[in-house]
Amino acid sequence: MPGGSHTAGRPNERRIGVLAIPLAFAVFVIDTFTDIESAIAVLYVLVLLLAATTLSRRGILRVAAGCGLLAVLSFLLSHWHDMDLSAVLRCGVSLSAILITGALLVRDHDSRALLVRANGALARSEKRYRSMFEQARVSLWEQDFTAVMAALDALRADGVTDLTAYAQANPGWARKMGALIVTTNVNDATLELLGAADRTEVLGPLERFLPADDPAMPQVLLALWEGRNRFEGRAQLIAADGRVLTVLLGISFPDDGIGFDQVVVGIVDITQRERTQEALLAAQAELARAARAATLGALSASIAHELNQPLGAIVLNAQACLRWLRRDPPDIDTAAKAVDRMIRDGKRAAEIVQRTRGMLVKDAHCDETIDLRQLVGEVALLLERELSAAAAVLSTDFAADVPPVRGSRVGLQQVLINLVTNGLYAMAEAGSPRRDLTVTVDSPEAIQGMPQVRVSVRDRGRGIDEGSRARLFDPFFTTRPDGMGMGLAICRSTIESCGGTLTVHNHPEGGAVFEFTIPAASHPPSTPLPATPSPAAPLAPARED
Ligand code: ADP
Repeated sequence: MPGGSHTAGRPNERRIGVLAIPLAFAVFVIDTFTDIESAIAVLYVLVLLLAATTLSRRGILRVAAGCGLLAVLSFLLSHWHDMDLSAVLRCGVSLSAILITGALLVRDHDSRALLVRANGALARSEKRYRSMFEQARVSLWEQDFTAVMAALDALRADGVTDLTAYAQANPGWARKMGALIVTTNVNDATLELLGAADRTEVLGPLERFLPADDPAMPQVLLALWEGRNRFEGRAQLIAADGRVLTVLLGISFPDDGIGFDQVVVGIVDITQRERTQEALLAAQAELARAARAATLGALSASIAHELNQPLGAIVLNAQACLRWLRRDPPDIDTAAKAVDRMIRDGKRAAEIVQRTRGMLVKDAHCDETIDLRQLVGEVALLLERELSAAAAVLSTDFAADVPPVRGSRVGLQQVLINLVTNGLYAMAEAGSPRRDLTVTVDSPEAIQGMPQVRVSVRDRGRGIDEGSRARLFDPFFTTRPDGMGMGLAICRSTIESCGGTLTVHNHPEGGAVFEFTIPAASHPPSTPLPATPSPAAPLAPARED
């Protein structure tokens, strides 16, 4: 409270303040007992000014009141008998001067008290920040970005408008910018993180801690360029002993254009977490492969067992049929009965194969309404790590007004994952310099009155060679040393069981394009299409017809 605060004053000020008492006395004596015809009482202003250096708000008010009383007292004592107008005016001027000075001093006192309090709060906040900075278990850095800001401003002045394009056209530029960032302070957690003995090893240009190809730096520069006040992302740092650390980076930039000389950066080491996650994913993938192999093994054994009986019966009936036909004269009626039995057994074999197909895609309940654009987005997120491990970029191209489809969410997700993963393999095998995968979603012409949605996955690998094309969707067809050859077979089954088709062609500019269409949800659920070219088809005698 301004009025309540007491200004004790420093020793010097106190000494000056004490001078106010004799001065007040002297002014009173001169004003009362001399004949000087001027407003001597105005000098009480000096008394007030001297006293104010040591007094509180209330003290100033009291001294002002005291000076006013003394001035009036002097006036009464010296002019009681010959009170003239000029004397009254002089007294009025003095009282006004005392009043105005008192008011100004009180206001000045209030402002000073406010300033002192603000300064105190600032100092306390700075102290709190310092102790948090020093004691935080998270690595904190203070960095000077002013040179980077100046460089960005210079680019703007040169007419650069698209920083991403500029960075792509000037490959070493982002790294050069990294060299302009100067670390001015770090906490102990940072020394621990980097394995540095003391701060001098860390302070200075940041460049030496940045790997040459760190993708975070261009992103940080873009955030600055766009005037964002936060940046969060994954980055890499080189520790003092040369270890490459994967870290989560959080930067808060000042939003007022100043303060870029002390930007606070927080860093969390996630190297171990990433490694554990990688190991976990690898183990999961291996487990899934093993589980699939075991299922397929069991499935093959069961198919072999179940097919054995009808196939054996077909052979027996065929032999009998031959015998009846070779008779002289041939017994056509009995031979025809044997052929009928062969047809019946053939159909049974086909049913067994059909049932097995159903088991392969047993999760595919095509009764969900799915936005494929959203599903593609989810798959892109799920495969983020695989994409970055393969140094590949997945871009999407979604047509407007694509209707939702009816299908199995999990099934379609597996199809997309399979196609994208195959594309990544294909580009890695081909050693493609440009590892771009494009997923396009649009709605082509309706097929037989049924609105469709089409999804294409295009890679930049070698494409499909003529020798493999016909067998690509056959179960167990693979050209990869560790492949199982079931991915595309299952994809096709999943798509077909939801009434769609999956095809492949080579792109004129290189690479394979896997394309599936699936009925839009606006259409009432359809019965699955009959098993046209399908994983089980080569085994099914019905397909020969
Ligand atoms: P797997 O991946 O276990 O081999 P798939 O059924 O997924 O089984 O693939 C079968 C084969 O199809 C692969 O071995 C490969 O020869 C070929 N293939 C699949 N996707 C692509 C692609 N994008 N580019 C070229 N060939 C491909």
